[in-house]
Amino acid sequence: MAKLHVVTYGCQMNAHDSDRMVELMAPLGFEATKNKDEADLIVLNTCSVREKADQKMLSELGRLREWRAEHPTRILAVGGCVAQGMGQGLLDKVPFLDLVFGTDQLAALPDMVRRIQQDNVRVAAVDWRDADEFDFLPIRPRSKVEGCHAFVKIMKGCNQFCTYCIVPYVKGRELCRPADEIVDEVAMLVERYGVREVTLLGQTVTSYNVRHNARPGAPRFSELLYRLHEIQGLHRIRFMTGYPKDVEPDLVAAFRDLPRVAGHIHMPVQSGSDPILKRMNRGYTRALYTERMADLRAARPGLALTSDVIVGFPGETEADFEATMDLVRTMRFDSIFSFSYSERPGTRATRFHDSVPHEDRRRRLRTLNEMQEEITREILQSRVGNREEVLVLGPSTRDPNILCGRTSEHRMVNFRGVANVGDLKHVDITEARPHSLRGQMISDAQRLSA
Ligand code: SF4
Repeated sequence: MAKLHVVTYGCQMNAHDSDRMVELMAPLGFEATKNKDEADLIVLNTCSVREKADQKMLSELGRLREWRAEHPTRILAVGGCVAQGMGQGLLDKVPFLDLVFGTDQLAALPDMVRRIQQDNVRVAAVDWRDADEFDFLPIRPRSKVEGCHAFVKIMKGCNQFCTYCIVPYVKGRELCRPADEIVDEVAMLVERYGVREVTLLGQTVTSYNVRHNARPGAPRFSELLYRLHEIQGLHRIRFMTGYPKDVEPDLVAAFRDLPRVAGHIHMPVQSGSDPILKRMNRGYTRALYTERMADLRAARPGLALTSDVIVGFPGETEADFEATMDLVRTMRFDSIFSFSYSERPGTRATRFHDSVPHEDRRRRLRTLNEMQEEITREILQSRVGNREEVLVLGPSTRDPNILCGRTSEHRMVNFRGVANVGDLKHVDITEARPHSLRGQMISDAQRLSA
């Protein structure tokens, strides 16, 4: 078999696309390899959300020049956001590159590779496809399911245009996959591969058929959750990433009504200051964010909330930063992904001139992280003495004699006991670590007699 090596940059959505590339190339006789030296085709699946993505990708291409030169039949390709942004220009710039394909061209990868093999041409394909088609793979090889968990992409693109973000330009506008296909795929994963937990993926997954271009009668995100909840054998439904404005009464009701919708939501807030939120074009105020999160917490007591926060956005004053600190303090997130603002070429925020000095950005990030670490520690500590229901994921990576799993709130638990991957077990929590919990599994008999 020919060998394919995919290098993935960026988020879970990109990792999912990389898996799909492997699946798409299988009918052409390609199988994945981790060893690039034995590969016949290398794809760099890029992400321009990360800092200096184009320079990193060009450096990697430089390192692959020799690999490409060793065999004339080898194919070197760049896909993903950076490819979308640079297009033909990238092919012109890198003479030993064979293929550049954009974020909407994934399904055409086998055809493009075949053309390159047969006609010895170089190809750049970055068009947006107009058809309302959401290509996906109906059959997922067993190897793509990790234990009892699988990712399922339900939409792509974004219509929000936050001023610091390149995604709408390189991933295109929102496109929602038909609900029937999603339900069928999840049911198949449960039945055929023993999947017990799915994470629904999308740039703003809660916007699924909520606002933009929704076909009349198309089920909204909350309705999709109700349909998935009916699948027998599926223990938990997760999703990422949410968008605060989408937390409307129907989604709140789903959290109240559907116990298998996990008790965790990742809801980026980005800033606690209204003027900064406005400059970011986030489309909500601090008050709206806190109100909607309070609705969710009221509907699902114990809900874990995580978030993304940017510090040092252009124009952010000390008072704005203090507003963010105050928000994080009062929201008591389980954890946050925090970022010091850095420019992304092509975004509107690059035209904002009142940048925050580098030192101030670093200090604010450090201050924020110190406070959040303390909150995370307190929340984990508060679980000690509780009995938690844990979905068993398998042996711990550090100690194969210990099992690990996650609570519905997405907290990692390491524990002693005997159980199978995909089992739901009860664990008495005995200790809190900086980012996880430890405990002792109790048998079903113990639990029932207690
Ligand atoms: S919601 Fe904003 S930050 Fe998120 S992908 Fe869309 S534009 Fe980017």
